Amino acid sequence: MRAKIAAQEAAEPRPAGMPVWRCKVCGYLCAREKPPGVCPICKAQRERFEIFHFTDGG
Ligand SMILES: [Zn+2]
Repeated sequence: MRAKIAAQEAAEPRPAGMPVWRCKVCGYLCAREKPPGVCPICKAQRERFEIFHFTDGG
């Protein structure tokens, strides 16, 4: 579970000061000012996205 998130984080490094959005349906992560209109992975609507908080350890 954590490993999958770590892999996506490595694939898409987050720019400084840019919020990271997470699709609550499939777990897709993207760093941008606003969430995508539709998830490119599962086609979930924007409202399905939430701010993703990176944590060190745990
Ligand atoms: Zn999704």
